[in-house]
Amino acid sequence: MNSIIDPLLITSFGKIIQDSRNIVVIPHVNPDGDAIGSCIALSRILNNMGKSVKIIIPNEFPEFLQWLEGINEVIDFEKTPNEVYAIFQQADTMFCLDFNDFERSEGLKELLSDFQGRKVVIDHHPGPVVKCDLLISYPSVSSTGELLFRIIDDVGLLDYLDKVAADAIFTGMMTDTGNFSYNASDPETYHIIAKLLEKGIDKDLIHSNVYHTFSEDRWRLIGHSLKEKMVILPQYRTGYISLSKKELEQFSFQPGDTEGLVNYPLMVKGIIFCVLFMEQDNQVKISLRSKGYFSTNDFARKHFNGGGHINASGGKSFLGLEEAIRKFESLLPVYQEELLNCF
Ligand code: 5GP
Ligand code: MN
Repeated sequence: MNSIIDPLLITSFGKIIQDSRNIVVIPHVNPDGDAIGSCIALSRILNNMGKSVKIIIPNEFPEFLQWLEGINEVIDFEKTPNEVYAIFQQADTMFCLDFNDFERSEGLKELLSDFQGRKVVIDHHPGPVVKCDLLISYPSVSSTGELLFRIIDDVGLLDYLDKVAADAIFTGMMTDTGNFSYNASDPETYHIIAKLLEKGIDKDLIHSNVYHTFSEDRWRLIGHSLKEKMVILPQYRTGYISLSKKELEQFSFQPGDTEGLVNYPLMVKGIIFCVLFMEQDNQVKISLRSKGYFSTNDFARKHFNGGGHINASGGKSFLGLEEAIRKFESLLPVYQEELLNCF
């Protein structure tokens, strides 16, 4: 396999693993398929090497990941903070996966910043701002899952990557690329999938486990969003969907139910920028997606306290739902030329 990772980083990674005994593995807040998948895979590999490993999540994971083996052992900081404090006391090494700014671990951020052991960050978002002992950051790679596979391969630990870890890595790769519909044109991605298949994964079953387990309410919420709430603004090649708390309650919203919903306006011919606004208790959660060179990362950073990748970002607003939408609409004329000329 072609290696893209700096050999010095691989050497440091190998050494840290060798020296570690009690390890914590952490994904970002509102962990998605890639964050959870990477954590389960790394934890499994380290476990197979005889290390003691705990996965600590900042808050709950979406229902569509419940089938992953090992998911029931993750420890939710929001539910059992004292257990998490005790685990951090014992740990000699921490791995942060799929984020590059401790702010993105929300309630855990002080624990991460103040941690006295070895700190490793493995991630594929642009612009890392973490202080750590080892940062392996490759924004060109499809997913943290894929990056983790490459690292494990380069460091020579592939024998410890079993089917459970392979399932989790594939889940990360599949969910972060919209089932291989974006950021998925690197031939190496498919060489890795071939190796995961050789480890025994059932690709079709994983697809079905993740994408074909909607509740009826979830489908009705999508139907409602598309019929009543999707706004298409062709003059800006932009579309958006907004959901109030009341609407979410009406459809018995569960975490994960709006996963992928943001993308629908991009399926309208000509639309290259789209946003989902979701009203929560103290904030409006905002998801942004684009096609081509239009940077949702810049847009989210500048206007909505967020960030992410060029074509997929998130952010938040404390203005309330209607004001957040008004602010968004008022920004579009500023970006009109860029949006119209984007390819
Ligand atoms: P989503 O819209 O699925 O929540 O997030 C899309 C992408 O943006 C993910 O890669 C996620 O890690 C990133 N992201 C989401 N919310 C935030 C945020 O508040 N700050 C930053 N820096 N990135 C975010
Ligand atoms: Mn990711």
